[in-house]
Amino acid sequence: MKALEDVLNRAPRFTEAPSHKISEFFGANVFNEDAMRMFLTEEAWYAVRQATQHGERIDRKLADQVASGMKEWASSKGATHYTHWFQPLTGLSAEKHDAFFEPIGGGRSIERFDGSMLVQQEPDASSFPSGGIRNTFEARGYSAWDPTSPAFVIGRTLCIPTIFISYTGEALDYKMPLLRAIRAVDEAATAVCQWFDKDVTKVTCTLGWEQEYFLIDKALYYARPDLMMTGRALFGHIPAKGQQLEDHYFGSIPDRVRAFMREFETEALMLGIPVKTRHNEVAPNQFECAPVFEELNLAVDHNVLLMDIMEKVAQRHDFRVLLHEKPYAGVNGSGKHNNWSLATNTGVNLLKPAKTPKENIRFLTFFVNTIAAIHKNADVLRASIASAGNDHRLGANEAPPAIISAFIGEYLSGLLDGLAANIKGAMTPDRKTELKLDIGRIPPVMLDNTDRNRTSPFAFTGNKFEFRAVGSSANCAGPMTVLNTIVAAQLRSFAKEVEALVRKGTKRDEAILRVLRDLIVSSKDIRFEGNGYGDEWVKEAEKRGLSNIKDTPRALDVWSRKEVIQMFHELGVLSPVETEARHEIELHSYTLKLQIESRVVGDLAQNHIVPVAISYQNRLIENVRGLREVLGADKAKKATATQIGLIEEMSEHISTVMALVNEMIEARKKANNLENARDKAIAYCDKVKPYLEKIRYHADKLELLVDDEQWPLPKMRELLFTR
Ligand code: ADP
Ligand code: MG
Repeated sequence: MKALEDVLNRAPRFTEAPSHKISEFFGANVFNEDAMRMFLTEEAWYAVRQATQHGERIDRKLADQVASGMKEWASSKGATHYTHWFQPLTGLSAEKHDAFFEPIGGGRSIERFDGSMLVQQEPDASSFPSGGIRNTFEARGYSAWDPTSPAFVIGRTLCIPTIFISYTGEALDYKMPLLRAIRAVDEAATAVCQWFDKDVTKVTCTLGWEQEYFLIDKALYYARPDLMMTGRALFGHIPAKGQQLEDHYFGSIPDRVRAFMREFETEALMLGIPVKTRHNEVAPNQFECAPVFEELNLAVDHNVLLMDIMEKVAQRHDFRVLLHEKPYAGVNGSGKHNNWSLATNTGVNLLKPAKTPKENIRFLTFFVNTIAAIHKNADVLRASIASAGNDHRLGANEAPPAIISAFIGEYLSGLLDGLAANIKGAMTPDRKTELKLDIGRIPPVMLDNTDRNRTSPFAFTGNKFEFRAVGSSANCAGPMTVLNTIVAAQLRSFAKEVEALVRKGTKRDEAILRVLRDLIVSSKDIRFEGNGYGDEWVKEAEKRGLSNIKDTPRALDVWSRKEVIQMFHELGVLSPVETEARHEIELHSYTLKLQIESRVVGDLAQNHIVPVAISYQNRLIENVRGLREVLGADKAKKATATQIGLIEEMSEHISTVMALVNEMIEARKKANNLENARDKAIAYCDKVKPYLEKIRYHADKLELLVDDEQWPLPKMRELLFTR
């Protein structure tokens, strides 16, 4: 292949970081504390701080001051334009650039950026998905400044993180519900923390994501229309060598890849994204990047930014980044682990076991309530990670199954079960002392790397939970909004129960333990310590009554459940209208993805694969004819046997491919005629999707039969092993 030669002849390119010391350029392109101190008046700086930390409003006059300082700073970084940067439900980021420059008549101009431009902008929102909200209410949306995430400069543009809302106030993006969920969990968790420590006035969520991705050479990418259009290879025989040897995981990072990593990390660091870890992943050409954890809202922005930067920098290195959950059949797909915890303003990680009984009761409170929240809302959590891409990955022996469960390790399992058995009836003083000792004895670090269960979708890893089922291309805001909402709901109901017992005269510590005990017992079924990839677990989970929802449209059904709508409404995270809209958008997006995949499969089969197979078949036919001419019919019998066998075999596959493509088109037509979003998504899932696999099967057989020289698509081994 020509493309392949180009790749191999390419020398790695390096773009050096501004300094060997990261601390010297970390955050250089962020309007952070230091920059604000330098460019804002004391008054304006204080206003931003209050807004960031306590959600206070910034008045118009101060907004003008902030804008002016921000513009000065951005200009000093070379910015000429500004944009409101937001995260519409398409899962990418969006921006509309405006220049600071403004003509003022007489051929003169100034650079202008005031408070109103900072606070609000009206992008033309008509093409962002809104699930009908905009049709029902209002035709336009606007973006509004989110001061809790600092502005930054990319290239020549000042980017202002914003939320995106309709004129009637409905959230049209990922960020607004996330901010509301953060507030809900703050309120609920702070109230509980107050029992233990009056100094706790704020609880923040922390998120450390781990981003997996594949790299592919640009030339190969452009030679694969399926990768270009859908992000995954819809055809291709699985190569003899895949990831069996695990040589990639332990191997060193290739030079060309390292050059790419260094450059995108440098850009990320300048934007204040604390990327720290990089390594190869299990599949060939698969890699991972992880930062140090941060406050949730910021971490979400940083992940979206990083995905964006990675794609841009990859182009400079003649790579393309594949963020799809399952670009290649036969090897591992990509996920995005979401490490999550809660932290207080007093610097305590609420999911970290501590040294004293009192602190550990607090730890157990948050630990057990999180497990209970997962138990009660497993289906909502499942829905939060549902996507067409992730459907290929969940339960495919490489990623957690679609069954939600929680792994907490042997030690804590024993401890919880022991507690549950111990706290029964009235407690004698002796038993209370004993219990206190037990609780006090929880070792602060319980798990090391070897002890981790990598097959669990939701695992406790010593001082945080790791939600492993999130898809690699997902916006973390989706699952994080759900997780924090269900934990907030659980903490609220927990607090209510404890307060009720206290009102009846139970001492608070005892009341807490009593309610915790009930939760430990009632949520026991969600705890699973075994192999999440095994078939036994599927059976066992069914016995326990845990859901195993395998596809996206059905996973999303939970958004129509009354109690779910109610919970999100009560906590002020999503109004019933917003929930309905989101449900519809996700169904729609699922349908669109499958529709595109199905079209690409049809086109490639008809225009690339079948014609090439036929042309090769013709060569064989000519060969048979020629042999007969030269050798005579009798002698040629033996000499042409192989060719004739091949011709027949190919005919079989060619006609099957064509028949299947036609059937698929019919199935698609039927699905397209359905009005209801759910019906349509289900039709695509059940009736159209199976054809993708069937067609691929026969096309991949043809790939094995046709002369390699003639095959029109780069093969899987080239996609996987070229770098
Ligand atoms: P690994 O899972 O790769 O073995 P670690 O457990 O050290 O590595 O950390 C994984 C991720 O968890 C990192 O991104 C780290 O920043 C994040 N993390 C660590 N502590 C917390 C916390 N309290 N809250 C959220 N994320 C955390
Ligand atoms: Mg991890």
